[in-house]
Amino acid sequence: MKSVKFPEMLVCPNGCEPFEADRWSFINVTHTPELKDAALGGELNLFCCPQCNTFFHADTDLIYLDEQAALLVFVFSDKNRRNKKELLAKMEKDYAVLKDSLFKQMKLDFGPMYVFGLEELKEVVLREQQRTDESEAIAAAAAALGMKVARLAPQWARQHHSPLYVAVGGDETAGGYAAAARKVLQSGLKSPLLAHFAEIMEGEGASAPNVL
Ligand SMILES: [Zn+2]
Repeated sequence: MKSVKFPEMLVCPNGCEPFEADRWSFINVTHTPELKDAALGGELNLFCCPQCNTFFHADTDLIYLDEQAALLVFVFSDKNRRNKKELLAKMEKDYAVLKDSLFKQMKLDFGPMYVFGLEELKEVVLREQQRTDESEAIAAAAAALGMKVARLAPQWARQHHSPLYVAVGGDETAGGYAAAARKVLQSGLKSPLLAHFAEIMEGEGASAPNVL
């Protein structure tokens, strides 16, 4: 599914005459990766008023999808924080529609999260970017030790503050994953995500992670 933008009437914060511009309302960064950079760089839905030349963000609702990261974010307008309850109800409704149509077509299966405003979206995207970078370092360290690498389900990793890649030990139990993670950490790799993952796997009654 392509990213979608629509022409919309926008008004700058100085209250000049409204003008028409194309605003992104659905973003699929798997299809349009440059929009991920725009979200990180603060250029997403950034406009310049043709009258007073002020730059401003169109602070309206949009949906952000990253298929690889299993990330679906409903971005609500920052000024609608007070209406959180209604917005979440609307999100569940919209998500139910997505799940039955687009998600089914694309064979995607993960729930939505929500943020208010583009600044919060940027934080979410940045965190995912950091998780990806740190995970790649873990995979490289594990490979350097001659260990096998498993890819965790991104949604599981996000919920458990864990990396996307971990080393696989002798067996695929929680204990096996814990021992493999410790081995990689002992090789000198600094990874708070992997250290946290090891702690979870060492927890009493821990079960193995969801692996792809
Ligand atoms: Zn203006």
